[in-house]
Amino acid sequence: MSSNEQTLSIIKPDAVERNLVDEIKNIFIKNNLIIKESKKIQITKDEASEFYKVHQSKPFYNDLCSYLSSGPIIVMVLEGENAILSNRKIMGATNPKDADENTIRKLYGISIDKNSVHGSDSAENAKKEIEFFFKN
Ligand code: UDP
Ligand code: MG
Repeated sequence: MSSNEQTLSIIKPDAVERNLVDEIKNIFIKNNLIIKESKKIQITKDEASEFYKVHQSKPFYNDLCSYLSSGPIIVMVLEGENAILSNRKIMGATNPKDADENTIRKLYGISIDKNSVHGSDSAENAKKEIEFFFKN
């Protein structure tokens, strides 16, 4: 609905390591999402555990938090019409094997865990996640 909706995007360590940052950013731009903020950081495992705490009961939680903190990531605020849903469509399904053609995860994802990008899944989480990385 809103043309200036914002969402949080992360380019995960597997994609940063393979120098895919510019290619992935270009996909957002081509799909009418504006990159309002972008920074390259490395987070601690404690920070990753806080960020992903919604998944704390899942069997993959520990590995997921180790992985997200294993190397540099790019955290971005994307803005545009229906940015949250639009970004989720551009990303593709969690498992790259199930992702639609030309989605980021289909193009670049290695596996369900090394799936190259994160994107907020709701307005509530977008707000929380943007605050997590961009407000002190
Ligand atoms: N994940 C995993 N194994 C699974 C499911 C998820 O390693 O069986 C990881 C994967 O990196 C995923 C993240 O946990 O991106 C968060 O899972 P979620 O279900 O929220 O998927 P997403 O919203 O990223 O598509
Ligand atoms: Mg999710």
